[in-house]
Amino acid sequence: MWSKAVLLLCFCLPISLSTHAIAAHSADTATVELTTALLIETGPRLNPSTAAELWHKGQFTPYADTLALGLGSKPVWIALKLHNDTGRQLERSLLLDTAWLDEIRLYQYRGPRLHHQVVAGDLQPFANRNPLLTGFLFPLELSPGEHFVLLRVSTPDPMLLPLRLLDDEQLEHLPLQRLTSYGLSYGFLLALIFYNTALFFGIRDRHHLLYALYLGSFLLVNLAYSGHGLAWFWSDATEWQRWAPPALMILFGCCGLLFATSFLHIRQYCSRGYRVVQLAAALALLSLTAGWLMDSQLVALSASFMFMLVFTSLMLLMGLCRVTQGSVSARFYLLAVISGTCGTVITTLAVLGRLPLGEWSFRAAEIGMLAEATLLALALAARIRHVHREQIRAEHAANTDPLTLLNNRRALYRLAESHWQTGNRRRRPLSAVVLDIDHFKQCNDTYGHAAGDRVLCQLGQCILNTVREGDLAARWGGEEFLILLPDTDLEDAGRFAARLLEQIRLTQLTLNGRLIEVTASIGIAEHSEQDRSLDDLIGRADQALYEAKHQGRNRIFRQQIGTDGNDQFSEVLIHESTG
Ligand code: GH3
Ligand code: MG
Ligand code: MG
Repeated sequence: MWSKAVLLLCFCLPISLSTHAIAAHSADTATVELTTALLIETGPRLNPSTAAELWHKGQFTPYADTLALGLGSKPVWIALKLHNDTGRQLERSLLLDTAWLDEIRLYQYRGPRLHHQVVAGDLQPFANRNPLLTGFLFPLELSPGEHFVLLRVSTPDPMLLPLRLLDDEQLEHLPLQRLTSYGLSYGFLLALIFYNTALFFGIRDRHHLLYALYLGSFLLVNLAYSGHGLAWFWSDATEWQRWAPPALMILFGCCGLLFATSFLHIRQYCSRGYRVVQLAAALALLSLTAGWLMDSQLVALSASFMFMLVFTSLMLLMGLCRVTQGSVSARFYLLAVISGTCGTVITTLAVLGRLPLGEWSFRAAEIGMLAEATLLALALAARIRHVHREQIRAEHAANTDPLTLLNNRRALYRLAESHWQTGNRRRRPLSAVVLDIDHFKQCNDTYGHAAGDRVLCQLGQCILNTVREGDLAARWGGEEFLILLPDTDLEDAGRFAARLLEQIRLTQLTLNGRLIEVTASIGIAEHSEQDRSLDDLIGRADQALYEAKHQGRNRIFRQQIGTDGNDQFSEVLIHESTG
């Protein structure tokens, strides 16, 4: 049971195993018949002749499927009987297709005599192994008749022993198939890593860097377990090869948790969960260090596989927690993590014999992880879109008066800048219209502040309905509005103001069945050479407004600078202008 649980843990790790977990029934059984049996070395170490004796006594158990005994298994003896009935000498290669096994000893017998023995394992430099197959390949010369081969495998790593007998043609094709499939996986991951790193340097969003780290650590775990790390990067560093799988798994888990907590804002929205994640990562690192200090690979491996189970659960729980809190990007995230986990479960069930074991079911974990990587990339893209939208919304909010939805003072200054420059350069007219509601305080006092707000909204709407495209309208403050009219002289500004007052008069606002009468006063001025800034122009329109109030309200006054340099005010007669 324990070994199965460990195996489950082992495959909870979304490692990319491209090995064909196929039992020792080669495609060419027509020419070489192969039967397999096993014995677990529970007592003291057996020598090959004792093991062979035990086999002859029927102490070995025949098996047909891929042998999978989990983590920290006792050493295993496998007896292979090969029968060459072709009548001619055959060259075959026995492939033990798991890259991480520590020590393998092969004894080939011819009759009762030990004919040939080989020692292999990943604690030896990679030099003699095939860099594309990464498993252990043993050439066998098979003369016609019966052959007997004994294998002794010992490793603290997961005892997964897929055996294949390959003829020359298969030996030629298999590396190419492997290279293609691994090439696709690695290429895909590398592309995502480079893309996200580049994005990080481009937009300085640390989530992309953390995601690239997460993918990078996944790639490293793959390299360690597939044997490509040993084959391509650390072929002589056998001591590192002992510790690489657990160390890199823990690194992968920590990077995943770092990315997920940051992406999902766990510290902010789920502080207790954040502490659990920190504790899990700290315990994993401590156990790894303890394993290393005790020189026990098994302790380090058990800790790392256990951590993988905790890691997968935490990744799912964090996603669930944030989805229930209503986070949109967490949905993509959760979908991604679920697809990764599904792939892992399919592979686990296939390896445990609960699902048919085939190329795709065996590689479901790898496919799941690639799907997870793709969906997480989409989640990050959705986040960029979300942040961009929020930025636009924030910018809009910063420029808009929330009550009337007109520009606020800040936005008007910004937008007016270009009109002011163009007006100056091309000597185009530009007029300012300042409007202030009459006796608004009284309106508030009589009908209440909420009714006052409705009046302001309605007045804002009136202004929007009256301006032309290109005019700039803003709520200037309290119950005062400013409209800038580009390409409009004082005469036309007067007509505009008259239309606006008429529009306000026609807009009837009722409250509890009672009509609220709203009037406003307007002051206008046209840009003149004396104005040194927009404020000067607005100041003159304001003076005209003051005059309109002074003259009894609900009227329009314009301000001009007379030939003598003095201010001149004159009223715009509403009916003349609108008529
Ligand atoms: P006048 O005709 O001289 O302009 O008189 P007024 O009462 O309109 O002017 P005053 O400056 O005395 O009062 C302005 C009022 O506008 C007072 C203030 O409470 C009200 N007000 C300012 N902003 C808002 C707002 O956002 N909502 C509401 N409901 N009232 C506002
Ligand atoms: Mg007022
Ligand atoms: Mg006022």
